Amino acid sequence: MKICINCVLPETFPGITFSGDGLCSYCARFKGKKYQKKLKDRFRQKFINIIKEIKGKGPYDVLMAYSGGKDSTYTLRLLKENFNLKILAITFDHGFISPMALENIRSVTDTLDIDHLTIKPGAKTICSVFLKSMEPDIYPLKALERASAICNSCMNMVKSFLLKTAIEKKVPIVAYGWSPGQAPIQSSVFKTNALMAKEMQKATMTPLQKISGHKLSGFFLDEYQFKLAEFFPYLVHPLAIMAYDEEKILERIKELNWKNPQDTDSNSTNCLLNSFANEIHIKQHGFHPYALEIANLVREGYMGREEGLKKISTPFDPKTVRYVKEKLKINNNL
Ligand SMILES: [Zn+2]
Repeated sequence: MKICINCVLPETFPGITFSGDGLCSYCARFKGKKYQKKLKDRFRQKFINIIKEIKGKGPYDVLMAYSGGKDSTYTLRLLKENFNLKILAITFDHGFISPMALENIRSVTDTLDIDHLTIKPGAKTICSVFLKSMEPDIYPLKALERASAICNSCMNMVKSFLLKTAIEKKVPIVAYGWSPGQAPIQSSVFKTNALMAKEMQKATMTPLQKISGHKLSGFFLDEYQFKLAEFFPYLVHPLAIMAYDEEKILERIKELNWKNPQDTDSNSTNCLLNSFANEIHIKQHGFHPYALEIANLVREGYMGREEGLKKISTPFDPKTVRYVKEKLKINNNL
């Protein structure tokens, strides 16, 4: 298979083209590290200004989507220690968080002395959502470029629940631990509003409603929240505008009693569902759902190309995949 000579994107990636010397169209469009740095500085300053404006005005400054994985753990530490913010961490428990990640969530929130909530949808409902997410035509191909169908379903619920909770609790910032490869600098500090949230909700809720009817409506905004225009929060993902070095991140979070889980695949430090979701995605679409994130990290100099290629070609652990299939009651032909 043809793979870009500079990043890790394969020829099977939707819409990709290659120049004569084998450079992909994503790398050809890349504006360079200098430009990235300028952009980073501008958005970091924007974030600092917002913090000055909101800090200490309510019971919490930030709602943090906390999965227990390495990136969100590091983000939690940054927000608490570098920016001195009052945080409410929220974990969305989809029933497949690795036992080691659950322990990490407890020890990190304890060590950092952070308030923490868990929200767990009904087990049968969420399993049927994951199962049916994989059917064709649930998600447009564009949504599947950066994440598997299962990840899309999960993240849509997380994002919506956090936005809803922030509005209800009047928390001015919602934070995510996206790696710099997962989301662009341009979206790292961003004010939401009712009109846009309505459009976004339509796009994310429709596939889930198709699957589950109204069983998940508790995770979505209703007319009540849409009317509270003044409480729509900022969305931030600070890792896009801070230094990002995987080795240093691991060092820093180990100081919080975070332990590297041995029970997840090479692209996740918290989710047992990931291997299965990735395997199905590759079978259905011909490329790894982490390819775009890893390609961005490689192109932007956060990760070596060899390491990136290894991350998206490491075979999945059959034991974890079997465990997920059993839990979702899937026969082995899938
Ligand atoms: Zn490339």
